[in-house]
Amino acid sequence: MKQVFGVLGDPIEHSLSPAMHNAAFRELGMDCEYHAFRVRQKNLKYAISGAQAMGFGGLNITVPHKEKALEFTNPDTLARRIGAVNTVSFNDEIRGHNTDGLGAEMALREAGVGINSSSVVLVGAGGAARAIAFHFAEKGACVTIANRTPEKAEALAKDVGCSHAGLEDLKGLLKDSDILINATSVGMHPHIDTTIASREILHPDLAVFDIVYNPLQTKLLRQAELAGAKPIGGVAMLVHQGAEAFRIWTGQKPPVEVMRKAVLEGLG
Ligand code: NAP
Repeated sequence: MKQVFGVLGDPIEHSLSPAMHNAAFRELGMDCEYHAFRVRQKNLKYAISGAQAMGFGGLNITVPHKEKALEFTNPDTLARRIGAVNTVSFNDEIRGHNTDGLGAEMALREAGVGINSSSVVLVGAGGAARAIAFHFAEKGACVTIANRTPEKAEALAKDVGCSHAGLEDLKGLLKDSDILINATSVGMHPHIDTTIASREILHPDLAVFDIVYNPLQTKLLRQAELAGAKPIGGVAMLVHQGAEAFRIWTGQKPPVEVMRKAVLEGLG
């Protein structure tokens, strides 16, 4: 019988996950289908347990439910520490995972950038930054968090056990850093003319990773190119977090390039 997978969010109509996972299932000849479901917060618990009851193969959880989903799953250690779940598996129990940080690591790795022992400036202290900060710190990166609201950077740094700084210190911080990550929504459509950093404070030894993927070429990435730094776009993280979810659910090696093509087509 066909196995069903899905993503729960609200809103959900612009999700690229159905195209990405359905392309992967087709590629591997698997009798599976992936759908997007708009679920209100008050119904999240029933949607997750209902999916298990109906024999779903797995779920993704997206904005605004990632934190709340922690309550309705048995989260693994990383998801519990992050405080958010983006993937649910139904093997013996309703298990919560978070693959966003690994997605970010893989995006850097495929660009030839390792994170172990690297000095990372992470701008942002929201959900995505949280996932990246915990995962990167666990993998041996030296992370400094900077955020528009400094109290949030301080609180996240305390949770992770890393350092924090003000956004006004970015120039000085970047001088001795290997990787700059934008984990804010700055530069995202429709505000495409905004950036967290301009070329003057970037340098050729820096990898500049913008997790924003709409537009594909953000202003920050253009500034990185002008400074001779290595620009890395957000699509790779989106694809790899999905690929890791696919691996968790199916135990199969995900067809990453097919998934990337589907995402790029979806972004037009
Ligand atoms: P979030 O939880 O709402 O956090 C937003 C972050 O952006 C906060 O740190 C916020 O700072 C900061 N911010 C917003 N507007 C700003 C501005 N004008 N100037 C400076 N900082 C600003 O959002 P999220 O879920 O972490 O997502 C952040 C971005 O990452 C979004 O664009 C999302 O699409 C993207 N994303 C990409 C992937 C991927 O796979 N590539 C995955 C997840 C998210 P304050 O704390 O001061 O408000």
